[in-house]
Amino acid sequence: MLQSTIFDVQNIRKEFPILERKVNGHPLIYLDNAATSQTPRVVIDAIVDYYSRYNANIHRGVHSLSQEATDAYEQARQKIQEHFNASKSYEIILTSGTTHAINLVANGFSDLLKKGDEIIVSALEHHSNIVPWQMLCERTGAELKVIPMSEEGELQMSKYRDLLSERTRLVFVNHVSNALGTINPVEEIIELAHEHDAAVLVDGAQATPHIRPDVQELDCDFYTCSAHKICGPTGVGMLYGKEEWLKKLPPYQGGGEMISEVTFERTTYADLPHKFEAGTPNVCGVIAFGVALDFMNGIGFDRIAAYEHELLEYATKRLLEIEDMRIYGPETNKASVISFNIEGIHPYDIGAIIDKLGIAVRTGHHCAQPIMDFYKIPGTVRASFAFYNTKEEIDIFVEAVKRAKLMLS
Ligand SMILES: *Cc1c(COP(=O)(O)O)cnc(C)c1O
Repeated sequence: MLQSTIFDVQNIRKEFPILERKVNGHPLIYLDNAATSQTPRVVIDAIVDYYSRYNANIHRGVHSLSQEATDAYEQARQKIQEHFNASKSYEIILTSGTTHAINLVANGFSDLLKKGDEIIVSALEHHSNIVPWQMLCERTGAELKVIPMSEEGELQMSKYRDLLSERTRLVFVNHVSNALGTINPVEEIIELAHEHDAAVLVDGAQATPHIRPDVQELDCDFYTCSAHKICGPTGVGMLYGKEEWLKKLPPYQGGGEMISEVTFERTTYADLPHKFEAGTPNVCGVIAFGVALDFMNGIGFDRIAAYEHELLEYATKRLLEIEDMRIYGPETNKASVISFNIEGIHPYDIGAIIDKLGIAVRTGHHCAQPIMDFYKIPGTVRASFAFYNTKEEIDIFVEAVKRAKLMLS
């Protein structure tokens, strides 16, 4: 049966104007949700409303527009706080996205690490979660250790236990792998790190479209996400940090908004969260981010996850009908991402052919080159599903992949 009992997906699709468009003469089938999600009308309306009615700089003007914009911006921060269940609103730092959030923390730790300290990252990381730590190690003399992955695309937890020691200061892991969809055992990773007094940053960019994390329950020290992967606009995201850590870290950038008093002799920094929000922020983006969270919570993350799981199972079953198909990553306990190759065919060629049929997938290394090196492949085709995709779209996608295979072999 193609229809889902979880919700009426056709009604949800009506909220996304872009899903009505055609690409190369075919109805768009958008299966690149792990790269960026599409934007519902309420979020687009919020952006138009902001620029049409109350565009102003925040936290500085006494005039009405500035106050309206400031209120809306701070209300969005509270919404984000509630969504992630942070205990204080100033533990939410608004950033330009996950990359910015991670760099903010990595930069801050420059002053806190010394030679001989160790940082642990996982083998399943996105480049944005590898490079800043390499740079941090170069600056401080700390050493980078990697939790290895298994053939099934899961982290080897026994190896992780072996890596932990009194030298470990920081652990970085993504909640869900963008390349394979693996859901990592972050609770256990955090608990073990804390036994060694190491801080943990969880990159939630890929988890937040599917689940609603509770940062207090996770007990992570830092958590990051990007709005554009959760139906919000590009160029905005957040860093959650425990108050004690945010107080310890120095500011990332100097500028307006982050200072308390400035003289040429000395500057004192503003309190949290402003200490980390130098310059004019993406006011409109932050407000729209809040609207996106309302939209997703209106549907409900339990239903979103259940429906996406149906799509994942259906697509996996149908893709495995294709001969010489190899799907990478774990079979269970994964988000709605399928990374695959067909033996003897370059992933790019499949992506290019199905694009001609209006189907958007990602091909390549997905900013996770080490994973591709592990499997000794140049890349994969990655189809990632959102709650507005349908089983009919998956059928068309599978037929298109079959057609590409015929043309290419
Ligand atoms: C997308 C992504 C990032 C980077 O997010 P930006 O919005 O580009 O900063 C980092 N980590 C993971 C796991 C991602 O999926």
